[in-house]
Amino acid sequence: MTQWDLADRQALQLELSCAATVTRSLRRAAAALTAMLLALGARYADEQGQIPPQRQAEIRGALDAALAGLAVDVAAETTRAVAAATALAVRQETRALRALGVDAKSLRLRIADPVLTQAGQSSARVLAAAIGDAQRFAASVPLATVAQLEAVAAKAAGVAPRVEANVRFLTNRAINETTRQLVREAATLAPPPIPPTERFPLEPGGFNPPQQLPPASPPPLEPARPPLVPPTLVLVWVAERDACLTCLALSGHVSDPNRGIGFDEDATFSPHGAPPVWPPGMPLLAPPRHPRCRCRLRIITADNTLVPETLRLNAQRSVLRGLSGHDSNRSRMTAARRLLAHGTGLPGAVHERATRDLARGRFTKPRGPLAKRRYPQSR
Ligand SMILES: [Zn+2]
Repeated sequence: MTQWDLADRQALQLELSCAATVTRSLRRAAAALTAMLLALGARYADEQGQIPPQRQAEIRGALDAALAGLAVDVAAETTRAVAAATALAVRQETRALRALGVDAKSLRLRIADPVLTQAGQSSARVLAAAIGDAQRFAASVPLATVAQLEAVAAKAAGVAPRVEANVRFLTNRAINETTRQLVREAATLAPPPIPPTERFPLEPGGFNPPQQLPPASPPPLEPARPPLVPPTLVLVWVAERDACLTCLALSGHVSDPNRGIGFDEDATFSPHGAPPVWPPGMPLLAPPRHPRCRCRLRIITADNTLVPETLRLNAQRSVLRGLSGHDSNRSRMTAARRLLAHGTGLPGAVHERATRDLARGRFTKPRGPLAKRRYPQSR
């Protein structure tokens, strides 16, 4: 699965860089607002950090203007981010499809997902809502102390991360939706062309004496013939090892996008049940399952049962080891207890450790690569 890991890394890099690009001018405006508030506080506050009433009005005017100035354009860059994510997925999956015997060059991609076609507006909406929250908070604060100015600055600094989270969600959705569409298109493909082979290259001069023809027995270097019928492709849900208890329950689930069947919206290991699908009202056709989901669809052939089974076992292992980085200890304990009672296909040693961990109420800290969260950012 090294190729998958590489693809994951590229996707994460793209996601982070898109989020940074979309919010560049927003973060600059928020930083200027913070600097302005701190400077005004330093200029007007007395020893106790109190600001005289006549200065509070002046600060209020400057603050209102600065908050309004946060309303920068994020739509155009968000649209570009979605396009970049789609292009990345096409590049990655073209290679994956070729390995499965499908020539993805002739595929025509049609992304009709309304969440993606309206990505720009959605970032603009998220930004407007975040600015509205900051403005309401500022209006509720008298701006009479340096501490209050700092609180307003902190609120304004929280605007950009909300837009970033939306962009990361959108890029992840674009990647998975692209993968899904490629598999849909692949089903309409004719068999891939057989590459022309140069079994009988002409000698310079254009004449090959018959006695120089290679023997008629199977030539040793003949390339493998592609299958006459393209393989039936399906999508498998891949969660990270420390994904939430809901995404872990989906890991290894298979969906055939050509049959119009999505993924199980009720699947979860969480004792609190599965959260509503995000965005609300949309069918669960692909990750992200929730705004901070980092799951990914992978293309496999329909007869491949090994990969889904391995993913399911890995997810069960994550539950028994309490690896979910998103759920409370209590939820993870309950999930592990229930899974243990239900039974898994995992080795006895994994069950024994889980039983010990459950008895003492705390999971053994993972060592090695599992100890480090792959994505330390908030999710
Ligand atoms: Zn997920």
